Amino acid sequence: MAEVGVTFLGTGGGPLVVSKQIRSSGGIIVKAGGLQFHIDPGPGALVMGKFYGENLRSNSVILVSHNHLAHSNDVNAVISAMTNAGRDKKGILIASKEFVEQGLNQHFSDKLNNKITAEAGKSTEVGNTKIIFTKTEHSEKTGIGFKLLTPEFNLSYVGDTKYFNELPELHKDADILILNVLALKHSQTNLSVVDVEKILTKIKPALVILTHFSAELIDADPLYVARELQNKHEVQVIAARDGMTINPSSYSAQLKQKTLNLY
Ligand SMILES: [Zn+2]
Repeated sequence: MAEVGVTFLGTGGGPLVVSKQIRSSGGIIVKAGGLQFHIDPGPGALVMGKFYGENLRSNSVILVSHNHLAHSNDVNAVISAMTNAGRDKKGILIASKEFVEQGLNQHFSDKLNNKITAEAGKSTEVGNTKIIFTKTEHSEKTGIGFKLLTPEFNLSYVGDTKYFNELPELHKDADILILNVLALKHSQTNLSVVDVEKILTKIKPALVILTHFSAELIDADPLYVARELQNKHEVQVIAARDGMTINPSSYSAQLKQKTLNLY
């Protein structure tokens, strides 16, 4: 069976944490359906890939939620790694309009098999995985989140967004819900812990992963924040750590269903 897993090459968010690399910012590697997805490769993606033993040459799809440094800075470098320095035309880039227009280097763009400008509400299919582009409300107006419906599990990466009423509904069928949380109480542009509470009163994913931590969250201790949320909302909540790998199959409702049917 092909490898399945979610590995965090970084869990930092906010300018201070990213510029000082208090937490790294290399993005998230998702292996599912025989493919390797690299979500939001920010500064340090190549270094962290090496450090945590991930082979970026094996990436099949690069997903870029928006054109902010912590999410997109190393995309061109990751395309280079994926295509053997441009020698092998390969892979798909799915990215926000602003990133495609302003962040993508033409040289590396030409090395891709395909390039998709993602628009909220639309979707595409790669192999046997459907990727739905979800709405965000953020300072990068063309930004999106991603919902990956893989053969093994449904994973939602909400991207950078403030809370809005339809947000929980957009991600209600996620087994794994990855939330970028930047503040404890309130942020103009991103989710706060208070917003996460609002989400968890409406939907109950099998696993919630908090990441994209600012200095405020790190001071409050993400582990503690996650435990409080878990106790209050009776949903499994974990705080991502740099280099953490989880096996989503153990949290997939689909898989549990299949397992139950065996008896
Ligand atoms: Zn952002």
